[in-house]
Amino acid sequence: MQSVSVLIPLALPGPYDYAVPDDMMLARGDFVRVPLGPRQVNGVVWGPGAGDVAPAKLKPVLARHRVPALRDPLMQFVDWVAAYVLAPPGLVLRQVMRVPAAFEPEKPVFGYRPTGTPPQRMTPARQRVLDVLKDTPPLPGPDLARLAGVSGSVIKGLHEAGSLAKTELATTGSERGPDPQMVGVALSPAQQEVAIALGTAVAAQTFGVHLLDGVTGSGKTEVYFEAISEALKKQRPALILLPEISLTAQFLARFERRFGSPPALWHSGLTPAERRRTWRAVAENRVQVLVGARSGLFLPWSDLGVIIVDEEHDGGFKQEDGVVYNARDMAIVRAQLTNCPVVLSSATPSLETFVNARQGRYKAHRLAARHGAAELPDIELVDMRTSPPQRGTWLVPQIGTAIEAAIERGEQALLFLNRRGYAPLTICRACGHRYACPNCDAWMVEHRFRRQLECHHCGHARPVPESCDACDAPDQLVACGPGVERIMEEVAARFPEARTAILSSDHMGGVAGIRETINQIAEGGADIIIGTQIVAKGHHFPKLSFVGVVDADLGLGNGDLRAAERTYQMLSQVAGRSGRETTGGRALLQTHMPDHPVLQALVSGDRDAFLEREAAAREQAGMPPYGRLGAIIVSATDQQEGLRFAQELARKTPSHDALRVLGPAPAPIARIRDRYRFRFLLKGTRQAPMQAFISQWLGGVQRRGSVRISVDIDPYTFL
Ligand code: ADP
Ligand code: ZN
Repeated sequence: MQSVSVLIPLALPGPYDYAVPDDMMLARGDFVRVPLGPRQVNGVVWGPGAGDVAPAKLKPVLARHRVPALRDPLMQFVDWVAAYVLAPPGLVLRQVMRVPAAFEPEKPVFGYRPTGTPPQRMTPARQRVLDVLKDTPPLPGPDLARLAGVSGSVIKGLHEAGSLAKTELATTGSERGPDPQMVGVALSPAQQEVAIALGTAVAAQTFGVHLLDGVTGSGKTEVYFEAISEALKKQRPALILLPEISLTAQFLARFERRFGSPPALWHSGLTPAERRRTWRAVAENRVQVLVGARSGLFLPWSDLGVIIVDEEHDGGFKQEDGVVYNARDMAIVRAQLTNCPVVLSSATPSLETFVNARQGRYKAHRLAARHGAAELPDIELVDMRTSPPQRGTWLVPQIGTAIEAAIERGEQALLFLNRRGYAPLTICRACGHRYACPNCDAWMVEHRFRRQLECHHCGHARPVPESCDACDAPDQLVACGPGVERIMEEVAARFPEARTAILSSDHMGGVAGIRETINQIAEGGADIIIGTQIVAKGHHFPKLSFVGVVDADLGLGNGDLRAAERTYQMLSQVAGRSGRETTGGRALLQTHMPDHPVLQALVSGDRDAFLEREAAAREQAGMPPYGRLGAIIVSATDQQEGLRFAQELARKTPSHDALRVLGPAPAPIARIRDRYRFRFLLKGTRQAPMQAFISQWLGGVQRRGSVRISVDIDPYTFL
């Protein structure tokens, strides 16, 4: 009897050894079922047993699942990510195995086909059902009902009448996939040049990082579609990572126009059945193109032809809970282990990527102009110190005039404010009481549509009180500052005839509602759009010609490492929604700091000069990408307990020439969800052995009580 080591998707220190029954053949990568204490769990054979325990004394593997084995590059990726982000490898493997039903035999799915016998009684609804089936293969009941626009009972009726018969559907059929022979748009010479370079890289089937750097509307998507087409021709699948996957209906429609059928999808909004089907399809190498969120990297690809990271600068690629990793960076590692090219696409590359490209580690491809006659919008500033809005309003007259002009031309205007709700702070006029969250060090945000005060950190909500909590005075609460709902109120008062739409993550209809609103806007169904950062992301609104930014300074105040860079990216993306198909796109930015380098860079359009200056400042300060950062966050339900632990950790800090430890300091939000938080920041040179240092450090202390420790390598948030 021999033994194998099995990695289990749980937070365990490493793989465990199990005995292999004599009648079982196992190889590295096989999915197996094993006992764990009183439970049975799924895991993956990670290698031969470590041999510390005689096989006779080990518990045996219970079963091998009939799923294609994990390929070596993915197993190496799991180990690599675990070592890099300092997470237990089992937790990283969990990203791969989040689809438990994937290992069970598939339940058969039934569909209906027409029998040719007409029903005794024909109704228009019944006729529609039969018409739908005229030129499609058999369909499952719900799909058939939807396509025919009838209820399920109509179909049942036809079945009982003998006009429909049930038939088992093939679940692993070879659906028609994207077609590489379909021809895309005629590319401009500049686009063509980049498309050829990317296509050649894909055809060569070797690793390399490509930066696709082109202004908004320059045709980056059209160009990387060519790279995908090349991968399809080589019969290697393509993975596209998008930051806001649930909001990409437009993208999917566009993909389908280009390739004749939609890509597979992977995001948190899928049903368990969809997740299962897609996971299996990837494992069985039946998926040619998949558009996914971060976790698409952990799908069981047997091979990859190219990975595209669209909007690579987007902070949404950083996963902040559980396994804390940056999908943009990990995509590069995944591509390297799989030996395929990776394309980072952006109009506003992150400073990390910009520097890597300038130093020649990444190959940069540039698209400097918008496609066709479209031009980049003019960006102007409004100095709020010298021309403030009228009392009680938030928009300067210039913005009002510009909105009016856009509507008159039959175009659209967008007002951008990256703040959800009605007002970020509520105070009592009588006693000055401010409404704070009971669980967090944060103010409660008023949401007027929902008539609630809400905490954006823990989700705590309460109805807007009628009298003050502190002094009991009735009707004295005042809202301070604007959120998108308040801007909406101003717009509605000022333009009562205009059709307005509001876009934020608070949408009443959830993700589906957001999607629908986006489609409506794209089709011209709104005159004025008010939105948070959701509107900044990649949407194509052909009629949009004016963008007003309510508070351009909002992201600059918090002083974190990337405040300037992020504000630049966000504002230039949002301004870039304007004038994509209209002439004379324009953006007006309300600011109290018109001389700020970020705002000056936006006005002059000299992105590279701005990035160079940022890069120089980071280099001087030894900050990323010229140095490395890590963070350790200690939290506890008891403040003293947390503090004492943090102090003990501080006393045991190892020393190293290339690394400095700052802290512990109370986190900027010192309490979230009733946990008190203390932060250490580690700062090192590029070569600093950050992970080894942290492992050694944390290995020397015993976690106790309610204390939790989380490690964040390359942190993006400093809260
Ligand atoms: P980006 O991804 O850089 O923002 P897109 O690929 O979305 O740019 O292109 C912007 C718009 O211009 C889209 O509607 C796209 O279809 C169109 N477009 C880009 N290049 C071409 C081309 N060569 N021929 C026709 N339309 C194009
Ligand atoms: Zn809270």
